[in-house]
Amino acid sequence: MTRVAEGSSAAQTAGVAIVGGGPAGLAAAEVLAAGGHQVHVFDAMPSFGRKVLLAGKTGLNLTHSEPYETFVSRYGAAASHLCKALDAFTPQDVIAWADELGSECFTGSSGRVFPRAMKASPLMRAWLGRLSNLGVQFHTRHRWTGFSDGKLRFETSGGEIFVSFDACLLALGGASWSRMGSDGAWTAILGSAGVEIAPLRPANCGFDVAWSESFRDRFAGAPLKSVTATSAAGSVPGEFVISRHGIEGSLVYAHSAALRDALEHQGSAALVLDLAPGRTETRIAGDLSRLPAKVSFSNRLRKAAGIEGVKGGLLRELVPDISSQPPQKIAGFIKALRLPVARPRPIAEAISSAGGIRWDEIDDGYMLKALPGIFVAGEMIDWEAPTGGYLLTACLATGRAAGEGIAARLTAARAEARSSASRAP
Ligand SMILES: Cc1cc2nc3c(=O)[nH]c(=O)nc-3n(C[C@H](O)[C@H](O)[C@H](O)COP(=O)(O)OP(=O)(O)OC[C@H]3O[C@@H](n4cnc5c(N)ncnc54)[C@H](O)[C@@H]3O)c2cc1C
Repeated sequence: MTRVAEGSSAAQTAGVAIVGGGPAGLAAAEVLAAGGHQVHVFDAMPSFGRKVLLAGKTGLNLTHSEPYETFVSRYGAAASHLCKALDAFTPQDVIAWADELGSECFTGSSGRVFPRAMKASPLMRAWLGRLSNLGVQFHTRHRWTGFSDGKLRFETSGGEIFVSFDACLLALGGASWSRMGSDGAWTAILGSAGVEIAPLRPANCGFDVAWSESFRDRFAGAPLKSVTATSAAGSVPGEFVISRHGIEGSLVYAHSAALRDALEHQGSAALVLDLAPGRTETRIAGDLSRLPAKVSFSNRLRKAAGIEGVKGGLLRELVPDISSQPPQKIAGFIKALRLPVARPRPIAEAISSAGGIRWDEIDDGYMLKALPGIFVAGEMIDWEAPTGGYLLTACLATGRAAGEGIAARLTAARAEARSSASRAP
């Protein structure tokens, strides 16, 4: 490449142009640069990997230690598409890769894997340093706005520039936390180029709940600890938080795809809560009925079921006449309380996106069938997964797979050029 700089309007040339410097784009850059390719990474933002740095605020859950078959099953319907990339870059490979970059990992009690530093900045710094040493060139503040005569068009602070390329990877992310750079604007560009895209929707997100004003004022911010929540996703123990809008937190995220899909397909959805997972319904009903009638309702809940504070408030919020119900009914509500959700929180607040480029649009090497020479990777493809390190692992794995796809195409193109030259008279 001659030069790619902000402000120049001259057409320029990149060997491999990677647009999007998140984990997927950088993973592809690593494969390609290690293979001797000339790589340029462009990003709209003033720095790279902003969403990964944000993920570092909660410890940077890189991957998961559960058995590999279980791990792959977390990707649901997309598992069959993702498995080749995941087989080539497994959770163990993620751990070894982070270790090589000086970020030794540990496995938490839940099986989730984190760097010991519990943050992303040391890993990102080491990674960008290694890529730089491999010759990767980085270009910040380059917003890709589409194609123009087969070139990439970028908006920069100095005006538009056009970059030609031998191969290009788009790794532009989904549409969650758009402040970090991935705003989903690419859907319009690729959609108009004939690429079929499933609408981007919130994944691993909170939900709105129609709280009464008094419940919201009293309990917003309160955590519901040690509960089990059930939806079509199964029964999961954990905790979540009451927010002013509704509910948030890891237990809600575990159910968010099931709740979102139920809202879309059936028009309604509810999380069913067990507020006292350690006690049976029969035991709670018996303990409630043994308490004298003069004991206040709050004390009965506390003594018979260990329920107080926000748990008691939630029972009253969702079953306003609960105190006048017979013990068996009260016990039934404690063990299976329906919490109806109104809608997912906006995608801008979600941890990740569902939807994206449909798998039919991509060949085995992650190239867009409609746009030969243009590859895609990461969250912009149509897959989703729960929190637990599955997102970063699949972004790294698909980035690497797309890098391999690009390398294979460039090698084939060079071989073809050599053989044409040798056939020339
Ligand atoms: C709060 C939070 C916590 C998270 N925690 C975890 C976690 O612990 N574990 C986990 O596995 N996952 C986590 N994730 C999810 C994970 O960060 C993402 O799935 C992952 O970063 C997606 O990688 P990507 O490379 O596909 O896209 P991104 O990381 O979104 O990168 C895309 C890049 O493309 C750039 N870009 C977009 N459009 C353009 C354009 N037009 N021109 C130029 N550049 C553009 C963006 O600026 C960005 O740098 C978390 C996400 C959030 C929001």
